[in-house]
This record gives sequence, structure tokens and C-alpha cells, in this order.
Amino acid sequence: MRKKVIAGNWKMNKVLSEANAFVEEVAEKAKINDSVETIVCAPYPYLASLVEKAKGSQVKISAQNMHFEENGAFTGEVSPVMLSDLGVTHVVLGHSERREYFAETDETVNKKTHAAFNHDLTPIVCVGETLEQREANETMNHVGNQVTKALEGLSNEQVAETIVAYEPIWAIGTGKTASSEDANEVCSHIRNVIKDITSDETAEKVVIQYGGSVKPANIKELLSQSDIDGALVGGASLEADSFLQLVEAGT
Ligand code: 13P
Repeated sequence: MRKKVIAGNWKMNKVLSEANAFVEEVAEKAKINDSVETIVCAPYPYLASLVEKAKGSQVKISAQNMHFEENGAFTGEVSPVMLSDLGVTHVVLGHSERREYFAETDETVNKKTHAAFNHDLTPIVCVGETLEQREANETMNHVGNQVTKALEGLSNEQVAETIVAYEPIWAIGTGKTASSEDANEVCSHIRNVIKDITSDETAEKVVIQYGGSVKPANIKELLSQSDIDGALVGGASLEADSFLQLVEAGT
């Protein structure tokens, strides 16, 4: 049985006091439960503080991006060594906002995926189609290619530990959720693509999340699908109450 993984992606929101208060509350209230993993993906400046607040609790702390190099002349960037040293356990890679606004490509996502494993970070690799691609029936092809390229060169063991987040771009922050059946169809396709490039056994271990307007009202239905193992949540992860309801739905 794959565990459920509920991750809140705050994006560029909150000040430090709000971030600390959120993690303190969730760390206190989220019951330790082996069937669900709880991750908070926070802006860089809060990571050190949040790792301290989350210690001994169910909550793990993730970055929202990183550079693929270990160090060097990359002004303004943050490296996998730095994240790992802080006690961060996960890193979101290739979010559609980074692909759209910050020139992230399949190639840089692949380099970052390797860098994550080289530094004991679990990558949460985001893939997803635009509305135009969906309407042109290109979803499966596009998403399959993104997954294949992101995972290129990883060992089967590393692929098994990767979290893939399927986030249709048209469903992000729009209130439009993919129907649970449509979301599951793409997640099943992702698992089949992973089977083809690794093995059946490996693909069965991969946690595949859905993301895009997930909220307490729709999460149970999404998680009831055969190939949806969790959620990557933006808007509904900003309030501790709502995030705790999402985590509870995963137990
Ligand atoms: P929303 O939940 O706000 O649609 O955002 C989804 C997302 O992009 C999470 O990474």
C-alpha cells in the first residue's frame, strides 16, 4: 500500500510569524500516522525556523525550488547542499509557475532531480498540461514526456522514491478541479509511463499526487481514485484549519 502524501505549497505567501504559527499549530494537531505524510513547502527564508518548529512531529519541510549546483557564482540561488544542511527533506521541482515565469525546462528539472537525490532530498516533480494542450488531446503525450525527461538517468530505487505531482495548469488557482476520473486517468498514464522506463514493481511504489484547486470539499473523492496518492495544494493550504482537514482526509 502506498502512503498518502499531502503537501501544502504556500508559494510566495506569509511572513515569518505567520509561517511559524502555522507549523506550530499543524505540528501539534496533526496526529502521527504512518498512512499519511504531511509536508509544508515554504519560502526559503523560513525553512530553518520551520524545520525547528516541526521537529518531533508528523510535519516535514520542503523547499519550492533549488539550483542544481552544489555551490558557486550563482547570485540569488539556493543549493541542494544548503537545503539538506538545514534539515529540509523535500523539494518541489518544475512547478508550472517556475516553468512559465522562470524559464525552468525539462532539462533543468532533470538536473535538479539528480541533485536532490545526491543530497538526500526527495523531489516532488510537477508535470501538467495547459488548457490548449488538453483541448488538442495532447495531455497524455505531453505529461508522459515531462515525466520521462524529469526521471532520465535515475536508478529504479530513486524513481521509486520520487513523488510526482500531476497539476493541470488550467486547474491551478482557478477553482476548476479536474474531475476525479480525468485526474486519475492521467495519473494512471503517468504510472504506466514509469513502468515502461523502470519496472512494474518500481512504478507501483511511486507516489503520484494531484494538484489544482484541491480543497476539503473535494479531496476525499480525489484520494479515493486508484492512482491518486495524495495532493499538492496551493490556496487551501494557507490556513492551518483547512490544511489539517486535508491531512485528516489522507488518514
Ligand atoms: P491551488 O491549490 O491554489 O490551485 O494551487 C495548486 C498548486 O499549484 C500547488 O502547487
